[in-house]
Amino acid sequence: MKIRVLGCHGSDQLLEEGRRPKQCRTCGFLINDTVMVDAGTIGPALHLSEQKRIRHILLSHLHFDHIQGLPALADNLVDDVIDPVVLTSTADVLNGLQSHIFNDKVFPNFLKLPNPEHPLFVCRTLEPRKPSEISGMEVIAIPVNHLVPTVGFLIREGQSTLLYSGDTCETEDIWKVAAGERTLKAAFIETSFPDDMAELATASKHLTPSSFAREFRKIGRPDLPVYVYHLKPRVREQIQRELARLKIKNLNVLEEGQEITI
Ligand SMILES: [Zn+2]
Ligand SMILES: [Zn+2]
Repeated sequence: MKIRVLGCHGSDQLLEEGRRPKQCRTCGFLINDTVMVDAGTIGPALHLSEQKRIRHILLSHLHFDHIQGLPALADNLVDDVIDPVVLTSTADVLNGLQSHIFNDKVFPNFLKLPNPEHPLFVCRTLEPRKPSEISGMEVIAIPVNHLVPTVGFLIREGQSTLLYSGDTCETEDIWKVAAGERTLKAAFIETSFPDDMAELATASKHLTPSSFAREFRKIGRPDLPVYVYHLKPRVREQIQRELARLKIKNLNVLEEGQEITI
């Protein structure tokens, strides 16, 4: 499984890191060139020919930083629809997308455009905890603990499984499922704020380095490669310092443009 990081932050921001500017973008990950996990970043990171290869988009929840790439993708692809792009998530997320975004007020309804018989987007509903086949992979959506209905994903292909936490604070189910997953090769887990912003993290239901460490331990695999994402760019360096102090063996902080093969 090849995972390309298009965006991995909790917000968009241009940072000055040393002498090189660093563009932080909201969360979007491209698997095997055809399946997106979250849609916070698509167009700014992909050529049109690459956007055309996307067949499925898994959505963890409706927060804007995870869906904001969808309207531009729709505009980019609408004059050349061969097969629809399948928006895949729980009923809560898909219903919200139709009533709040593609409602002909905030944005045209691309679930009916360019024509209702052959729209650009179609929806596929996932039942939580039930495996579904998507582009030759098996995907399981597992509810996590966030401000709005949110799922993380377990994505299996052959002998490799990826865990994607979604936005979450303290939770249980997804770690239990991960702990029992023999082919688990990597976990992408969110951490949004530094420890001294724990109050804001709790109020917005996100993790800090300390609470991340408690959650990660629940998988019971201290050596598992873990990729931290969803850092708020303005406090990125502070979060990185606090994560480094945890001395977790295979911990990495994700960067835009990174490619990971598991
Ligand atoms: Zn969120
Ligand atoms: Zn988010």
